[in-house]
Amino acid sequence: MSDSISPAFSLEFFPPRDLAGQERLVRAAKQMLAIQPKYVSVTFGAGGSTRAGTADAVRTLRNLGCEAAPHLSCVGASRQDLRDILQAYKNEGVRRVVALRGDLPSGMGGDAGELRYANELVSFIREETGDWFHIEVAAYPEMHPQAAHPSADLDHFVNKVKAGADAAITQYFFNADAYFDFVDRAQAKGVRVPIVPGIMPITNHTQLLRFSEMCGAEVPRWIRLRLAEFGDDKASIRAFGVDVVTELCQTLLDNGAPGLHFYTLNHAEAPLAVWKELSLQA
Ligand code: FAD
Repeated sequence: MSDSISPAFSLEFFPPRDLAGQERLVRAAKQMLAIQPKYVSVTFGAGGSTRAGTADAVRTLRNLGCEAAPHLSCVGASRQDLRDILQAYKNEGVRRVVALRGDLPSGMGGDAGELRYANELVSFIREETGDWFHIEVAAYPEMHPQAAHPSADLDHFVNKVKAGADAAITQYFFNADAYFDFVDRAQAKGVRVPIVPGIMPITNHTQLLRFSEMCGAEVPRWIRLRLAEFGDDKASIRAFGVDVVTELCQTLLDNGAPGLHFYTLNHAEAPLAVWKELSLQA
């Protein structure tokens, strides 16, 4: 426990699919705004599947009084689509975006769009809108699953920073060494922008394994074994999850991580519980 930490932290939400989801988003956001995040972000369904939903959720969150950053992915999009989206955000006064390549949802066919990789999207945003947006990009301490090898993935990350990214948020991980190794290697290549660790709360065994399989995040064997042993005992899973994630966050902050980005999955309880354990209350 430490009571003198003031890292920049942020929260990630996804656009709700229905009225109940909308109410859950507002409830979670209101609970979490009490701890004054630097900004919140809203995911984007690759291929534009949540284009309106992302913009609506950004509006909702901005109306609650926080800076909100839409995620924007280029896969499946034309330059004109992206131009229109950026212009609409600019018109509304949005100043921060999370720029991604995204993954085409299965069944969307082979139209990859006009920009191939996120570094091209970052360049496009800079060409179109100059310095209007603060641009965040994704980083992968345990390597992006499609990368040929870690150094190629690192070079591709560096290209996003050279293209004009202001900061990065990592894929989640449970091994702090992977994060510090990535930051060291990025800094050795001249990267000076903040690389903020993405933090995934542990609340659901099956969901965690499914997400991790998809995104290439490693769930250490000891965590998998403990979660399996808890079975359907949700309270024990949550308590264990808070302990594990708090320990991870504390290690990250104690060793110089510039902040924390919580993947909230539109639920406040787990991130708030970790926050409370860290004594990060505003
Ligand atoms: P890139 O940086 O373009 O990298 C993608 C892959 O291509 C990597 O393997 C990289 O090594 C490789 N690569 C890059 N450039 C080249 C090149 N020139 N030649 C060959 N290979 C290259 N997905 C969504 O759909 N919506 C979201 O809202 C969303 N939010 C996210 C937020 C965060 C913080 C993170 C970490 C991920 C998020 N994702 C989201 C997932 C992300 O879209 C996927 O991981 C996607 O596969 C890669 O996106 P990227 O921006 O990292 O791509």
